[in-house]
Amino acid sequence: MKLKPGLLGRSLLLGFIILGIVLLPSVVRAIAPNASFFAQLPPLLERIVPIAPSVPELTPDNLLPEPNQSAFSRMPGGQEALPPAPNSFVPRQERVTVNPTNYDRRMEVDIYGNPVNNAPIVVLHETVGSASSAINTFRNAYASDFDQVSYHSLIKRDGTIVYLVPPELRAYGAGNSIFVGENGVETVKLDPVLPPSVNNFAYHTSLESPPDGRGNGARHSGYTAAQYRSLAWLVAQTGVPDNRLTTHRAVDRSGNRRDPRSFDSQRFLSLLRAARANNAQS
Ligand SMILES: [Zn+2]
Repeated sequence: MKLKPGLLGRSLLLGFIILGIVLLPSVVRAIAPNASFFAQLPPLLERIVPIAPSVPELTPDNLLPEPNQSAFSRMPGGQEALPPAPNSFVPRQERVTVNPTNYDRRMEVDIYGNPVNNAPIVVLHETVGSASSAINTFRNAYASDFDQVSYHSLIKRDGTIVYLVPPELRAYGAGNSIFVGENGVETVKLDPVLPPSVNNFAYHTSLESPPDGRGNGARHSGYTAAQYRSLAWLVAQTGVPDNRLTTHRAVDRSGNRRDPRSFDSQRFLSLLRAARANNAQS
């Protein structure tokens, strides 16, 4: 049988569509880092057909539940922040108000209405630019979701901790991101357009990069002793355990985040243990 070119094209297209529908679930399974994670998502068709998802109403009742809400509020800069141990090192601390377009509340349910109750993680970043330029960015209003950005805190070169977004609230420190820990894959989708992210359960803190780290290079001269000391104090105060400390580089799924570059993990972890021991003694 001789097919007209248009008919042949349509037949081939239909064939590919049918093949795609048959093969897609197995392809998705093959590339999935954790099949059970995808299993809890809504059926494939619901994601392909552009149905406007029902976004849960933002009410005080669907904010992050106890005990995690109180875990965040006890973090440095939070409403119930713990007093530092007596006679211990306490870094210089400042507070700067960030534009409200750059943060939101922590949510109790995801966009599909599923409850989310992840324990907090700490995500380490670097500013790349200067601390003041990062702070200026967070003080600007951004209408587009794709431009909105913030950390909970940053640490200047002299060790000063600058509190930006209160820890009880959700800072926009990571875009497309996943935390892989002892509980498997953790991420939360809260927006129909934006990819899922760790922001709902992350405390984001950032080290001011050195002047030779302003560009896109793979490495730079690193962070100051004062920054490591303040970071150890800050992370000890959060109460987050080692197995929930991570970096932007580790959680990023966009493929273009490598921060914090030139970070000495061993140096940080030994200072962190000392800071925790100091808190425990008091
Ligand atoms: Zn980052």
